[in-house]
Amino acid sequence: MIGGPEETILAVHVRGLDGMCAGCRAWWARLTPYPCWQVEWATSRQARAVTARFLEGAR
Ligand SMILES: [Zn+2]
Repeated sequence: MIGGPEETILAVHVRGLDGMCAGCRAWWARLTPYPCWQVEWATSRQARAVTARFLEGAR
């Protein structure tokens, strides 16, 4: 299944060995503590999508 941008973000923004976000460092050479705001955003987007799917199935 092809997901939205949030799946790409979650695939790239992973916790590095030092606890910093590896995706932020690779993409922007920026040191951000994991989880960064992009992971938070993607996670909340996914949670909403799952909830919507669940509600549709329950109808
Ligand atoms: Zn990140």
